[in-house]
Amino acid sequence: MEYSDLIKRKKTKKINIGTVSVGGDAPIVVQSMTNTDTRNVKATVAQISALAEAGCEIIRVALPDKEAAEAIPAIKKKIRLPLVADIHFNYRLAIDAMKQGVDGIRINPGNIPRDGIRAIVKAAKERGIVIRIGVNSGSLQKDLLLKYGGATADALVESALQNIDFFEDQGFSLIKLSLKSSDVPAMIEAYRAIAAKTDYPLHLGVTEAGSLISAAIKSSLGIGTLLYEGIGDTIRVSVTGDPVLEIPLAYGILRALNIRKVGPEIISCPTCGRCEIDLLSLTDKIEQALAGQKDYLKVALMGCVVNGPGEAADADIGIAGGKGQGILFKKGKALKKVKEKDFVKVLLEEINLMIDERKKI
Ligand code: SF4
Repeated sequence: MEYSDLIKRKKTKKINIGTVSVGGDAPIVVQSMTNTDTRNVKATVAQISALAEAGCEIIRVALPDKEAAEAIPAIKKKIRLPLVADIHFNYRLAIDAMKQGVDGIRINPGNIPRDGIRAIVKAAKERGIVIRIGVNSGSLQKDLLLKYGGATADALVESALQNIDFFEDQGFSLIKLSLKSSDVPAMIEAYRAIAAKTDYPLHLGVTEAGSLISAAIKSSLGIGTLLYEGIGDTIRVSVTGDPVLEIPLAYGILRALNIRKVGPEIISCPTCGRCEIDLLSLTDKIEQALAGQKDYLKVALMGCVVNGPGEAADADIGIAGGKGQGILFKKGKALKKVKEKDFVKVLLEEINLMIDERKKI
């Protein structure tokens, strides 16, 4: 794990979700949520395995009913990621989930009565299980909506503070917080304000961020701004669609801020009239071939030799294209000429060699 010298990370309490630490000096953890029917163990396990393969580190599943809670042991048996149960409305499901062995609970305090939350806290305290207080702009308490005239940042913060007090009154401090909004500025303001008021670890996310492009923009701005300010301990990029798509986006945000160097960083030029190779197809093929790769590696794919060598200079490996061929660069040095038809093969051979060499050190 590397952390940019430019970012001073806010110190938070460290908590553990199963085997994964969140907060304190732990790396910023990437998490996701399944969109399968949790009662369908096979489909849920398959999706969790695909997410783990992509680099997801904590997984959350929805628990809409008792049958879903009863599926937990069978799911847990087949996965290696810490499992968090997401509960709304019915406090008994949270208690069932803990009995069935989940590693963490996420509740939305806006939709569970106080007595129910008290029972959840008691059960979590007995087992040492972390609870995420997940305040959400879509389900704030009515009194706060009236007081603030909507789900503003101040309303989200007051809800979180009220809940922290309620949990602490019961002697419970295994708390993680999220204050999600679909409105990016409101989300940024809410997290900034809560970070100044508590040192509980923060789960960052923009809720209902939309499909891939919209989610990438909103999450990069919302999550990225906060991370750059040193705020946040775990992130979830919400995407409408396959949750596996969330993981490269999450690592892309962390890599772009020099917070965690995980996975391949592919730099490719936008191409212009000087480009004489099929750079789009090369970029697609390399991206696909390196998907899920955990080792950090900077790969530069440049359309021509005008700017290419310069741009590729600080990359681990790169190609600068020419007419039907290109120059292969390694650590800033030109290695050899390669025919365009061999670009993918040669690049992948060299990349695998580099990764193997690193493992020997
Ligand atoms: Fe154009 Fe070459 Fe720059 Fe790519 S690297 S944008 S082809 S000048």
